[in-house]
Amino acid sequence: MQHTTITSSQDAIALEDKYGAHNYHPLPVVLARGEGVFLWDVEGKRYYDFLSAYSAVNQGHCHPKIINALIEQAQVLTLTSRAFYNNKLGECEKYICDYFGYDKVLLMNSGAEAVETAIKLARKWGYEQKGIAKHEAEIIVVEQNFHGRTTGIISFSTDPDSTRGFGPYMPGYKVIPYNNLEALEEALQNPHVCGFLVEPIQGEAGVVVPDAGYLATAKALCQKNNVLLLADEIQTGLGRTGQLLASCYDGVHPDILILGKALSGGVLPVSAVLAADEVMLCIKPGEHGSTFGGNPLACAVAVAALEVIREEHLSENARMLGEVFRHRMETLRIKYPHLITLVRGKGLLNAVVINPTPDGRTAWDVCVALKENGLLAKPTHGDIIRFAPPLVITEEQLHACCDIIAQTISEF
Ligand SMILES: *Cc1c(COP(=O)(O)O)cnc(C)c1O
Repeated sequence: MQHTTITSSQDAIALEDKYGAHNYHPLPVVLARGEGVFLWDVEGKRYYDFLSAYSAVNQGHCHPKIINALIEQAQVLTLTSRAFYNNKLGECEKYICDYFGYDKVLLMNSGAEAVETAIKLARKWGYEQKGIAKHEAEIIVVEQNFHGRTTGIISFSTDPDSTRGFGPYMPGYKVIPYNNLEALEEALQNPHVCGFLVEPIQGEAGVVVPDAGYLATAKALCQKNNVLLLADEIQTGLGRTGQLLASCYDGVHPDILILGKALSGGVLPVSAVLAADEVMLCIKPGEHGSTFGGNPLACAVAVAALEVIREEHLSENARMLGEVFRHRMETLRIKYPHLITLVRGKGLLNAVVINPTPDGRTAWDVCVALKENGLLAKPTHGDIIRFAPPLVITEEQLHACCDIIAQTISEF
């Protein structure tokens, strides 16, 4: 059969609908090209990207430096497996360790795999270093967490959509409320606890920002109770919230740091877990791995992606433009208090909470209207719109985007 090129949005949507699993509910736009802060659909219409593939594209679409690293490495060596050494992995590991200030790094592919790796590390450390009795290790997690989609990770999700019909669930987790230090202190009294797994800002929950100092106190409480702090910075890290890591706001150095998404600038799946020797060396040869983890292509791309964050001052840009964005949204909220009830976020990870209109139009309808006006964002939890453009956005572009949002809101 002839391979055909999709030329209309309608055809592309119909094909996905017919042949693809229905595990997503996308906005009706079919994208064909990306560059920097822009995306184009198959009809050639241009949009500002305000999702950045869930913050995987912090460096902007098809960043030339990252794409060059990809192409150059792809022509030389792509995959050896870890059965042999390769000439890219060590270099990349050193670069990442120096960049974030850790002894060791373990490279994986998707974010969920990195979270699974962090959990295994914390448990192993719990048994070998803390002396927890066999199979008794417990990890504290928080309500509304999002750490990925494996059967292990959904075992401690509190979102019914993520868990319903996928049991049985894995034991060994204690769920406490987010941003609640008393609950953490109480849960830490259990001597079987080996780790506290937390997002410094909850991304998928709708950009939920805890009180200032939450992570710092959480870290101190963990330390006092000989428990590891596992920070999932897959979404909040790499400049997104206006610092290299969201943990930096609290001056916290997590015992286990989990990265993904923008670690490759959205070019291919690369994730990482960082820790000190005494934690990382608990895992011995043959005890954990991944065929593609740490492959030469991923290594070349990750180093380039991290260089771009530093060279283009993306953290600083996110911090400065985040202030501008929230100021503009606050102005809108004051003008349309019946529609916009809350604006929150840090750096360029922000959310606006939308009240349904009297005629029943929701955040979804606002996102469809934003799309018509040339800006792509996605609603979450029915009433929240996350706004997270690539961090390479300029102040002028950001103002143009705020004008689009203001214009769209005024139509409601
Ligand atoms: C996206 C995300 C993950 C999962 O990453 P995948 O690459 O989709 O497996 C885990 N934790 C957080 C905080 C995330 O935002």
